[in-house]
Amino acid sequence: MIYLDNAGTTKVSKNVIKAMLPYFDDVYGNASSLHTMGQIAKEALDKAREDVAKSINAEPNEIYFTSGGSESDNWAIMSVALNGLKKGKKHIITSSFEHHAVLDTLNKLEKQGFEITYLPVYKNGIIKIEDLKNAIKEDTCLVSIMMANNEIGTIQPIKEIGTTCREKGIFFHTDAVQAVGHINVDVKEMNVDLLSISGHKFHGPKGVGVLYAKKGIPLQNLIEGGSQENGKRAGTENIASIVGLSVALKEAVNEMNKIAKREKTLRDKLFEELKKIPHSVINGDKEQRLPNNFNMSFEGIEGESLLLLLNDYGICVSSGSACTSKSLHPSHVLLAIGLPHEIAHGSLRLTLSKYTTEKEIDETIKTVPLVVDYLRKMSPYWDKLEKGEIKHVI
Ligand SMILES: *Cc1c(COP(=O)(O)O)cnc(C)c1O
Repeated sequence: MIYLDNAGTTKVSKNVIKAMLPYFDDVYGNASSLHTMGQIAKEALDKAREDVAKSINAEPNEIYFTSGGSESDNWAIMSVALNGLKKGKKHIITSSFEHHAVLDTLNKLEKQGFEITYLPVYKNGIIKIEDLKNAIKEDTCLVSIMMANNEIGTIQPIKEIGTTCREKGIFFHTDAVQAVGHINVDVKEMNVDLLSISGHKFHGPKGVGVLYAKKGIPLQNLIEGGSQENGKRAGTENIASIVGLSVALKEAVNEMNKIAKREKTLRDKLFEELKKIPHSVINGDKEQRLPNNFNMSFEGIEGESLLLLLNDYGICVSSGSACTSKSLHPSHVLLAIGLPHEIAHGSLRLTLSKYTTEKEIDETIKTVPLVVDYLRKMSPYWDKLEKGEIKHVI
């Protein structure tokens, strides 16, 4: 099987599994227990917190372990919103192509009386700082803009956004789930106040994530109970997963340059070859994007059919984000970059990892044009396009 859906999730690295196993078996203590077994767990927890902090240039007491990226996004946004509410600030700025964990949280807040401004991301999938500056109001309490998009991989000018927010005294959250472990992230240099991380997007386990919250940020208690996570998120810590996340992150950061270079070479080969397919378009900026992300649309076909046929050839891909892949609505990300509905429907996302081989990429380059051609030949819509009864859009 050829797995090209690494923005959906990744394979857990062997070193990570090895590092996790003792915490199920020999040293299964509760980190809150005072005996030796507990203290071994506590030491592992402290070490993981330090390692994660170091990898994004934060302090250990600014790192909160969560159940994943979605929880971190929800926690960050709800905390700052509640704080804003207390001060009569009910305006939030975001972008129009955030992950649903952000968009749906903001939707909930909108129903509760918050005003949300969605910045446009234009054709290249990148916001403009001028738009952000113009959107800021007296009562803006939060800006939440993702570091890298999960569908088209475009990277936002995070440092400029952070600097603008800091100047205006507005809290800045970034969903960095697709970025951390893949590109350099430095919370101090980027002026980020809150940042979300998920373990399973960089060869760590699923169900574990991190919320970075700069010291002094009004982080609300998420779960009441014990004093874990500085008393803000109660519950016995998932030591094995937390260790797994920290080891995966360290490995990803150590190998980052080497892996990114290799992924980019293979990804660019995909672009070079597959853009030869007529009536196709590359989605998102070609430079300001994650090294492992490929996204293209092909006119006259359904992304879902493309996905299923490629699956028959043993190639695992995505036609949108995993969370929306069960619905047949076109992706909100592709609509946000201005693709018409019919083009947004015919999209293909290929996301590589360090385990992707050149042979797999060559196989994919051979298979995609065959499948696109096959689907077009079967399509009455394509027939009309070819006869000139409907005009080509791309
Ligand atoms: C995967 C993803 C999430 C959700 O993370 P989970 O750990 O699966 O909850 C949030 N934001 C982005 C950008 C993602 O890619």
